Amino acid sequence: MTPHLQKPSDHGSDWHEILSRCVSTGNELAKHLPVQTQTIDQIIARYPMRIPSYYLSLIRSPDDPLGRQAIPSIAELRDTIFPEDPLAEDEQTPVPCLVHRYPDRVLFWVSNQCAMYCRFCMRKRRIGMADTVSEAVMDRAFSYIRDHTKVREVVLSGGDPLLLENDALKRILTTLRKISHVEVIRIHTRTPCTLPQRIERPLTEMLKTFHPVYINIHFNHPDEITPQAARACALLADAGIALGSQSVLLKGVNDDPRTMGRLMRALLRIRVKPYYLHHADPVRSTGHFRTSIQKGLDIMRSLRGHLSGMCVPQYMIDLPEGGGKIPLLPEYVKAMSCGGIIVENYQGRTYRYPAEVHSDSGT
Ligand SMILES: *Cc1c(COP(=O)(O)O)cnc(C)c1O
Ligand code: SF4
Repeated sequence: MTPHLQKPSDHGSDWHEILSRCVSTGNELAKHLPVQTQTIDQIIARYPMRIPSYYLSLIRSPDDPLGRQAIPSIAELRDTIFPEDPLAEDEQTPVPCLVHRYPDRVLFWVSNQCAMYCRFCMRKRRIGMADTVSEAVMDRAFSYIRDHTKVREVVLSGGDPLLLENDALKRILTTLRKISHVEVIRIHTRTPCTLPQRIERPLTEMLKTFHPVYINIHFNHPDEITPQAARACALLADAGIALGSQSVLLKGVNDDPRTMGRLMRALLRIRVKPYYLHHADPVRSTGHFRTSIQKGLDIMRSLRGHLSGMCVPQYMIDLPEGGGKIPLLPEYVKAMSCGGIIVENYQGRTYRYPAEVHSDSGT
């Protein structure tokens, strides 16, 4: 399918209205889909629900790939093995709302709100809980970034930074751009997928005055790549923003080679370069979404070589205790010896590849 582009709307109130009508109770949800109201309400007393009408319209049944991402499951309350914060983000937080794990970049949580509260969210412990990040907290974060001259990149995350109003976002970007060692600004958002109406010209016109700005978008299934999502990404890309994607490997959503391949190709068509495929973190109340690492490796093997290299993300696991992310690769090297290595190509054929070439030797 080639996404056709709808005429962009240039007035600012659409997305507020859509958000104000999002589904957040069992009763409301039961009007659209066959769910047990009581069960839903029991779960959302602990973990809130929010589904924008746009995303709801893409769901055909509660357990289809989009339904599973949005609709609460009783499995959330049964899962009590995993910790709430396995990555120890809360310990690597020198000031509230800032995670400093790597030397040259920080993660700055500028919002606890998202257009949709994804059931598999790794930050489930805080998403949708508290309202806004106060000015005082922001100021402390700015001071920290100002004082740490090794920080070259600030990743705005949350929650979803694009749930802030344009002027609030502009204030943050203006302050960051006044810090000379901050070279790159990156925004992590799911709105092009869950609330594409959020991406409007006033936003993109504002963002492009702060370049270099990168945006990483979160899509998990090819059915999420609608004409509206394509339009949102086109607006961002036309503003000169390089777009990447971060997907999560999720059981019953995208854990098969065919679906993942379709997703990656669809992303490339809407000018989004697949960046990471995350293995789902061991976070409490999300265990029912986890697959085996072997499955992830098999999917990666099914992509490499068969699809354009531009479509192939890196498969990442995030280590416990704040160890950071590392990439996992299928085993392409089958044997090593001083003469060379034996490798397997994407078709499963083996080749010998010479290790070192000496001009005076035949081997
Ligand atoms: C994932 C993450 C980043 C960004 O990592 P990249 O590999 O550069 O995408 C930065 N800080 C924290 C704490 C993270 O979890
Ligand atoms: S949009 Fe991202 S941060 Fe927000 S609930 Fe979904 S996965 Fe979590």
